[in-house]
Amino acid sequence: MSVVRRVYLLDYGWLAGDGGWFLPGWGAATYSEKEPKRVWIEIPISGVLLDTDIGYVLFDTGIAPDAWETHTRAVMEAFPLIRFEDDNRVENQLRKLDLKPEDIAFIIQSHLHFDHVGQTAVFKDSNIPIIVHKKELQFALLMLWMGKEGAYQSANLDPLRGANWHIIDLPVFELAEGIKIYFSGGHTPGHVVLSVKTKNGSTYFFTGDHIHLPRELEVESKGWLLADYDEWLTFVKQLKIWERANRAKIVICHDPDLWKKYPKIPKPLE
Ligand SMILES: [Zn+2]
Repeated sequence: MSVVRRVYLLDYGWLAGDGGWFLPGWGAATYSEKEPKRVWIEIPISGVLLDTDIGYVLFDTGIAPDAWETHTRAVMEAFPLIRFEDDNRVENQLRKLDLKPEDIAFIIQSHLHFDHVGQTAVFKDSNIPIIVHKKELQFALLMLWMGKEGAYQSANLDPLRGANWHIIDLPVFELAEGIKIYFSGGHTPGHVVLSVKTKNGSTYFFTGDHIHLPRELEVESKGWLLADYDEWLTFVKQLKIWERANRAKIVICHDPDLWKKYPKIPKPLE
């Protein structure tokens, strides 16, 4: 029996960026098109909330509401936050179920990029366990220590020094029955994907940034946001087999059509 009763998607606003970040074909010069037109796309920022027997589990916390003021200019130029309202604050998303930040039992970070860890500091005072792959925390801190602020931002991680971090380092970490955290790598050295099996028997994979756009799954390739293609492709192939064998649904957290396909909190996915 699974412990997962309900699954909700949280709306943390919208980013934009050059299509080349996501798909290699977009904007790349070719023999017959030497000066291609660049593509600019808009993507939602989302998170997942699970209502389970072990409490509420939150997967990713979106972007900092003050990202324009606190993040480096370069990252905000490349990935501008184009829509963010008070409603997109994690506290206000949780309020839709009459929950407060201290009601969360566990936070799982897909990875530590600024649009996934941006509001984790909201939970620091409640001492909530923050689960992250060891390689991800190591690499993020290494980058910041070397002064390479890009998708990892000091504004997000400095306030989390001494937070209740729990590092994991297994290919699959089962938090509880029906809640599995898979190491996927690929996009970042310690990226993980969340798999959930509900009481009703549905299986979901929440991709974090392993997949940004559905088209990446079709072409089995990714743009500039790729650290390790071998890791990335291996996990994509596994995802496709799980999708076929378990009729699993792959929920792509930055899918531009996400909100056409799935309801937002307070409505559950099922
Ligand atoms: Zn990312």
